[in-house]
Amino acid sequence: MLYLDHAATTPTRAEVRAAMAPYLGERFGNPSGIHATARAAKNSIEEARERIAAAIGATRPLEIVFTGGGTEADNLAIAGAALARDGGVVTTAVEHAAVLESARFVERLRHTVAIVPVDRAGRVAPEMVADAIDDGTAVVSVMTANNETGTIQPVENIIRIVRSGNGRVLIHTDAVQAFASLPVHAGDNGPDLISVSGHKIGGPQGVGFLYVLDGIELEPVIHGGGQELGRRSGTHNVAAIVGLAAAVEAAVAERDAYRIRVGAARDRFEEDLRSRVPIDVTVGDADRLVSHAHLRFPGILAETLLVRLDLAGVAAAAGAACHSGAITTSHVLVAMGLDREAAAESIRFSFGRQDDVTTAEEAARVVAGVVEGMS
Ligand code: PLP
Repeated sequence: MLYLDHAATTPTRAEVRAAMAPYLGERFGNPSGIHATARAAKNSIEEARERIAAAIGATRPLEIVFTGGGTEADNLAIAGAALARDGGVVTTAVEHAAVLESARFVERLRHTVAIVPVDRAGRVAPEMVADAIDDGTAVVSVMTANNETGTIQPVENIIRIVRSGNGRVLIHTDAVQAFASLPVHAGDNGPDLISVSGHKIGGPQGVGFLYVLDGIELEPVIHGGGQELGRRSGTHNVAAIVGLAAAVEAAVAERDAYRIRVGAARDRFEEDLRSRVPIDVTVGDADRLVSHAHLRFPGILAETLLVRLDLAGVAAAAGAACHSGAITTSHVLVAMGLDREAAAESIRFSFGRQDDVTTAEEAARVVAGVVEGMS
């Protein structure tokens, strides 16, 4: 199997599995208790928090709030900020559904939501984000990079422009896709809120964290026993949290090497493909994640191609992964102005840390063969 769907999820790292194993066995304590077994679990969570904080440059471990994944981190950031500040949301048309649907939820609470459009490459203009902010805005949310196309957003510029105009509004970035390859820094001049998910970086599924700059109040979106200082109730998934810390540390340590190796693989894949079949890179020359190759094969229906690729042993994706398995036209491609035909002929290949130019050459050979067979 040539697995080219790392944007959907990644294989769990061996060191993550090893770190988690004791917590699926003898180290089973509930960290909310007071006896020794509980305290041991609590210590493991706090150690994981410290390691994650150090890995992203957060000054205080308590700036890390553990969540049940990227979706939940986005919900806490958007709805939590809107509810705590009694205000609305400014975001972009290409955000993940976790952000867009959270924004819609905020809209149902009668706050204003502004969705800023993007250009043909999927980039948002910082000035347009700043212009969309008004006195009723609680939070601005712009993803670090897009999950479908890999387009990198000018988040640093957005922070600079937004803060020069309105010091009060919170800035959130969904760094779920970007974390493997781009530096994600908390602290001075960084975002107030950052979402990260375990399973996109070789960690377990169903766990993630929201970085919350010290002093920022969010209204919890999950209510209960008051864990995570009341910011996210529910018994901690200790094994997953320990695994998340191992994944974050490994991803940060290998980031530079990842960028070089995976970038070379992706580039070789596109070069080899282009030498055999017609392709268009959806985002053109725009800055994008090294892992992502979002390509159009003119005249070839993506839905059919995906099935044939699967039969040939290649896992890829079209549109956003959908609950029903059916492919719908991606809101990201629509926002970028692609027509239905172009969108229906486009596929995402996403490379991962185990790929190199050799796997890329093999992948290009198989994909080109399948496409030639359909032409
Ligand atoms: N945000 C982005 C950009 C993503 O790509 C994803 C996962 O597809 C999520 C959020 C959701 O993360 P999770 O799967 O951990 O809920």
